[in-house]
Amino acid sequence: MVRTKKVKAAGRFGAGYGTYLRNRLNAVEILQRVKQSCPHCKKPGVKRLAAGIWHCEKCGVQFAGHAYTLNK
Ligand SMILES: [Zn+2]
Repeated sequence: MVRTKKVKAAGRFGAGYGTYLRNRLNAVEILQRVKQSCPHCKKPGVKRLAAGIWHCEKCGVQFAGHAYTLNK
């Protein structure tokens, strides 16, 4: 891989997207790697089905949340 020194996970998008978007993408990807905790059973194991739709593997509840994270 090339150009990974500064842009990290967003490096695959190449140049031309701007610093703001690159930083945003990196932040989102880091958050997505962290397991989210279910607001219903409080256990980590919530997966994002689509933007704003989350599903808990432990208790099976499906709920709406923020597009990329549950809490922010
Ligand atoms: Zn749950």
